[in-house]
Amino acid sequence: MQNKIYDTLIIGAGIVGCSVARYLSKYKGDIAVLERNEDVCCGTSKANSGIVHAGFDAKHGTLMAEYNVRGSRMYPKLSEELDIKYKNNGSIVLCLSSEERPKLEALYENGIRNGVEGLRIIEREELLLLEPNVSDEAVCALFAPTGGIVCPFDATYALAENAVNNGAEFFFDTNVTGIVREGDLWKIITSNGSYLTRTVVNAAGCYSDVFHNMVSEKKIDITPRKGEYFLLDKTSGRYVSHTVFRLPGKMGKGVLITPTVHGNILVGPTAEDIEDKDDVSTTAEGLAKIRKQSALSIKDLPLDKTITSFAGLRSHEAGHEFIIGEVKDAKGFFDCAGIESPGLSAAPAIGEDIADMISEKLDLHKKTDFDPYRRGITDPLKLDEDRLNELIKIRPDYGKVICRCETVTEGQIRDAIRRVPGAKSIDGVKRRIRAGMGRCQGGFCSPAVMEILADELHMDISEVTKKGKDSAIILGENKAL
Ligand SMILES: Cc1cc2nc3c(=O)[nH]c(=O)nc-3n(C[C@H](O)[C@H](O)[C@H](O)COP(=O)(O)OP(=O)(O)OC[C@H]3O[C@@H](n4cnc5c(N)ncnc54)[C@H](O)[C@@H]3O)c2cc1C
Repeated sequence: MQNKIYDTLIIGAGIVGCSVARYLSKYKGDIAVLERNEDVCCGTSKANSGIVHAGFDAKHGTLMAEYNVRGSRMYPKLSEELDIKYKNNGSIVLCLSSEERPKLEALYENGIRNGVEGLRIIEREELLLLEPNVSDEAVCALFAPTGGIVCPFDATYALAENAVNNGAEFFFDTNVTGIVREGDLWKIITSNGSYLTRTVVNAAGCYSDVFHNMVSEKKIDITPRKGEYFLLDKTSGRYVSHTVFRLPGKMGKGVLITPTVHGNILVGPTAEDIEDKDDVSTTAEGLAKIRKQSALSIKDLPLDKTITSFAGLRSHEAGHEFIIGEVKDAKGFFDCAGIESPGLSAAPAIGEDIADMISEKLDLHKKTDFDPYRRGITDPLKLDEDRLNELIKIRPDYGKVICRCETVTEGQIRDAIRRVPGAKSIDGVKRRIRAGMGRCQGGFCSPAVMEILADELHMDISEVTKKGKDSAIILGENKAL
């Protein structure tokens, strides 16, 4: 058992847990994040569409709608403060027949009631000017100029780094297994011993029902809802410039086509309820559905440019609503449960509110020295020649390209490992700095990345993993040779 008594322990280092940590680090208090994986951003926050939704879709009057619109408005400033890759590319919802028009108008009305700025219904002529490759069937569309795209890894790491910089601690490979009341405190039992805390934040994604149900009589139920995707090579990056949706249905927003902030095209997701909270496999049926559905929105989409497929799990709550705030019959325990889409968009607003609720409850005071800024890892490609040459004089490793597909240098990889929290595995490097994210998917650069990881972390290369424990890359009895 740790002797220290925390003011707040946050379960889960996804975008929600990291956002809570960042906003709470504005206050004087001891806070830490407990994460069962080896790194930040290993759950749903790493596998989604990367869209900052404008907020026209979530039903008016729900927490989903309120937090979506507020969160989306926070992104431009947040991306400046934390140097997050974000772009306000605008989004479009296609109407593929005149019969669907009333549904599009209802979506517009819902968006207006939610307070989304600039919404307009546009006719085919204007639509074609915005997106020349839309289906011949498209008759009109809802245009939302405030829609955006963000790198979800970048956003999550930036929030975590800024939280650490302002005093928050992170404990990785720390699986929470129990929560019990001890007097006025909560005792959190983990695979790495127990922790005492005044307040708990449940930001455990698909597992948030498990923790809620440990402390409350009013049970909740979270179903993992799987979404599968194709990611297309950057050579297809200009095929669409806005995020292109179909009209939403019972299972969500449907298959969409969107550019990413890095210049790829993302196509998906499907929506299928499953039982296993960790099953992120892709399926032939799911991918076939995406092929069929995407063709209805965009003509001749170059799916032959696919470089990978992947899946993520939405934490779908039975009432299709976010559960946010202090649990009535478990004082000091705060839920961020059922945070399915638009959770990425809503995360900054959720983090801000939970931090305010906790600071009020514990009477925490604002720090005078809170630093809201964080700079990302230097991208040598963005420097002019003189500055690049100066950098290479001081850091020659910034002149050595390791990942050819994404043009990532050794210097960037070393910096990704040296960050706090820093990369400890191939996937940690990949998500922070994109080495291995390109066309060859790490086929060329992985061995070099492994050598750099081993060197920086003072370990044998055979100990380098893909994504933490149980993912060794070099196997066999003579692996150290
Ligand atoms: C297919 C798909 C598409 C989406 N697209 C979008 C989109 O475009 N825009 C948008 O706004 N939203 C989108 N979302 C939703 C968004 O991705 C999520 O709402 C958001 O990532 C949830 O973040 P989180 O921090 O709650 O969960 P997670 O990222 O899953 O984090 C939870 C963390 O808790 C940890 N944890 C769990 N159990 C334990 C334990 N026992 N001990 C310690 N740690 C534990 C996990 O390891 C994990 O790291 C999408 C979701 C999916 C699945």
